[in-house]
Amino acid sequence: MNIEIFQKNLIEWYKKEGRDLPWRHTRDPYAIWVSEIMLQQTQVDTVKNYYIRFLKTLPDVQSLAEADEDLIFKLWEGLGYYRRVRHMQEAARRIMDEYDGHFPDNYDDIIRLKGIGAYTASAISSIAFGQEKGVIDGNTLRILSRIYNRQDNIALDKTKKAWQFLMDDLIHGSDPSMFNQGMMDLGAGICTPKHPDCKSCPVSDFCEAHASGTESLLPVNIKNTSKTDLYYITAILKKDDKYFLIKNKEGLLENLYGFVQYEVESPVSFEETFYENYGFSVRLYEYCKEIKHVFSHRIWHMNVYLGEIPDEPGTSGRLSGHLYTEAEMAELPISTAHRKICTQIS
Ligand code: SF4
Repeated sequence: MNIEIFQKNLIEWYKKEGRDLPWRHTRDPYAIWVSEIMLQQTQVDTVKNYYIRFLKTLPDVQSLAEADEDLIFKLWEGLGYYRRVRHMQEAARRIMDEYDGHFPDNYDDIIRLKGIGAYTASAISSIAFGQEKGVIDGNTLRILSRIYNRQDNIALDKTKKAWQFLMDDLIHGSDPSMFNQGMMDLGAGICTPKHPDCKSCPVSDFCEAHASGTESLLPVNIKNTSKTDLYYITAILKKDDKYFLIKNKEGLLENLYGFVQYEVESPVSFEETFYENYGFSVRLYEYCKEIKHVFSHRIWHMNVYLGEIPDEPGTSGRLSGHLYTEAEMAELPISTAHRKICTQIS
């Protein structure tokens, strides 16, 4: 393959056809970092507004490092996978301590920051600092498997590691920022999982799968994901016009507010467990419905009940929570799973 022409075709196409996205108007590593972390589990269209709001509120490493925890979770509310933003704040604090607030300018230092993996480190180092590090993700693995007509299973780590070398060969000598973003857009809009648009593809002349008619069979992507189903009783507990919420101290929804829920089999068991934990009584009186929420490796089945707090909530329990009005709840960072439950209130 003539790599120079491959690069030239891809980059010229990207300059004409690439997506105009808010984070493409900057080379600020902080802004690129924010966009890449948001994009890890979330669609591009959803990320746009979150990105703009986040940058407006927390425009640099220092403001993120010093931000109040509730604020960062509020800015992230609805994006899910909240560990991402917690890790970002940890990384921002490390940048303040170890790099005097300056974002590290090379792949090896960037990848040592909390929450940053190979893809994100490659994206930041290539886009912000022009380093020749090819991005490896589902899109680029698919393109590579087709370009080289390879049957390797792209779900395996060993394939990802080996193909990093293919990508680093392909990017060598090009404009790394344009090359990587061109590959991202090619994967997102042309070399799609189903029905790739080979007629519009700027690198079709180099594509061995297209030449042999195997593009629709590739990539081989056999995952072994076993989702775990968890069943909860989740209670909307009300006292006058206020609702009882807790702030999660650990687990998937750490630092987010939500309703109390337990993996128990009956409302009576819920009431008993609640009393043991909080030291005062509640009464569940009506079943609403089951609400399902799917995480990457977990499915929550939340059987939602309405409940009341007959007396003043005590404070003698091992755990605590607070009563909030609906207006106050709107301002709190609440997990998407439990926001779905809020719709049962009004
Ligand atoms: S020619 Fe078709 S299969 Fe090959 S890289 Fe381009 S879009 Fe993908």
